[in-house]
Amino acid sequence: MARRASRVAAAHRAGAVIYLRWQEYPAWSACAGRPALQESEGGVEDEIPRLTPDIKADLNERKAAIDGAVSVEILPLQSLDVGAITGERGATAWANVLLVEYADHAALEVYPADKILALAALVKYSTLHLITNTNVGTPEELLVFGQQVTEAASLSLNLRQSVTALEHLVPGDYCRSCLSAYRCPKLTADIHEEVFGPLQPLEDPDAVPVEPEYDHLHMVRAKLPLIEAWLLQVKQRLGLLDRKPAQRARRRKKAKKRARDLN
Ligand code: SF4
Repeated sequence: MARRASRVAAAHRAGAVIYLRWQEYPAWSACAGRPALQESEGGVEDEIPRLTPDIKADLNERKAAIDGAVSVEILPLQSLDVGAITGERGATAWANVLLVEYADHAALEVYPADKILALAALVKYSTLHLITNTNVGTPEELLVFGQQVTEAASLSLNLRQSVTALEHLVPGDYCRSCLSAYRCPKLTADIHEEVFGPLQPLEDPDAVPVEPEYDHLHMVRAKLPLIEAWLLQVKQRLGLLDRKPAQRARRRKKAKKRARDLN
């Protein structure tokens, strides 16, 4: 009973909204103001981690494939203090950990295989184990990487609830997953300037259409996924998305599952 209660409490904690999500490190290290803008949208709720049969099977398969170890311990759904790296108090992440003991040293693997998670796991398990390697780099490499994360996180945290966040927006491919893409001033300016700018100079009332050049069309093509993602978000906000196909797909999936269960 106590075990179940602690699992439920853990699930609630995991469902909290973390300001600097480890999964989005490439985005907020490049666009420091992104977490601030996303937070004003309500943030991204962290998924409640689950140990599915597939994940269990993968961990067991990995354990069986390790040669020459004295022992291999699978530690499922370990809570990791990523806040110690990002500086965000109480920020916790979850990962499956494999602790591999050899005769004179140990190795550590984290799943999902991520450097921030590995560093947090290294901090947690190094007190009792002489860990000399991980599945995403050596301890030395992870410490150097951790310093970069801490510096990027410090800037992002300083921009929390600050109007200066707008001065630290840097568009990139990661804008596709940004909750604020539909209203981001830098992304709007970037798309307009790079895509529509040469074709439609707003400041010139007598502008005549120009012939798009091959290079320009290539550049527009590169921006298409970003524009499509932006359009999708705008449609979502305006309630213009047709939900019926998704609902139909869900119903079909349920019907298939029922049929499978009956067989
Ligand atoms: S849309 Fe892009 S530039 Fe704007 S906040 Fe999001 S990630 Fe940053």
